[in-house]
Amino acid sequence: SPAVEIEYLRKRYGSFEALAGVSLHVPRGSVFGLLGPNGAGKSTLVKSLLTIVRPTECRGSMLGEAIGHRKTLGKTGYLPEHARFPEYLTGREVIAYSAGLAGIPAVEGKRRIPALLELVGMGGWADKKLGTYSKGMRQRIGLAQALVNEPEIVFLDEPTDGVDPEGRIEIRKMIEGMREEGRTVFLNSHLLQEVEQVADQVAILVRGRVIESGPVEQLTKRG
Ligand code: ADP
Ligand code: ADP
Repeated sequence: SPAVEIEYLRKRYGSFEALAGVSLHVPRGSVFGLLGPNGAGKSTLVKSLLTIVRPTECRGSMLGEAIGHRKTLGKTGYLPEHARFPEYLTGREVIAYSAGLAGIPAVEGKRRIPALLELVGMGGWADKKLGTYSKGMRQRIGLAQALVNEPEIVFLDEPTDGVDPEGRIEIRKMIEGMREEGRTVFLNSHLLQEVEQVADQVAILVRGRVIESGPVEQLTKRG
């Protein structure tokens, strides 16, 4: 079964149609880029898959189960757009907190944290408070907490937002690392460059509609 198979997804906020009947196919083990301008509906789509938002109409599956199935949600990781973790927590505490939310026993959570910190290059900063971090460092902790339950699919909503060019390259490498580990990465971005550098498959979302989708080479070839 594919990682995500959206047959039909519609979402209205009041009378405003944020998603106007979207279909998407995300193969397992790939990086899938959902590209589109701000307001296109990218966050709404991801939030619908994660049941943070209640879709108006939804047919499809995720990891072989109906979208929204509890069992499936435990196999996903999520870095929301503009994620804000409390400034007074340390990087280590943020990841431990996410582990707790994911239902991971404290001892096991603690065991996983060093490798995650290493993975995102934050080993040396683990016990400093988020208030002392740059935006890029916060995003790295955001990535680490999204991986704490060893998810099959990781949803990253504009992960490089506000991050400097060097940090963007680092985040790209981490996304590639997630794919190497066999995870599916669902990447929301409004930056063509960012998506084409890392994604295998791309869908372009404009005003709640997918206007194009396919392998990244196919889309960039057409310019
Ligand atoms: P994107 O992630 O592509 O920037 P969003 O999914 O955040 O797009 O938003 C899509 C559209 O839906 C925007 O016009 C936004 O203002 C609107 N929207 C998002 N959330 C809500 C909400 N809770 N209530 C009403 N409108 C919303
Ligand atoms: P972010 O950009 O941090 O994702 P927003 O500022 O777009 O968040 O939205 C903050 C909250 O308001 C979210 O819960 C979002 O769903 C909601 N929201 C966004 N756009 C609208 C809108 N046009 N009308 C009502 N609520 C909205």
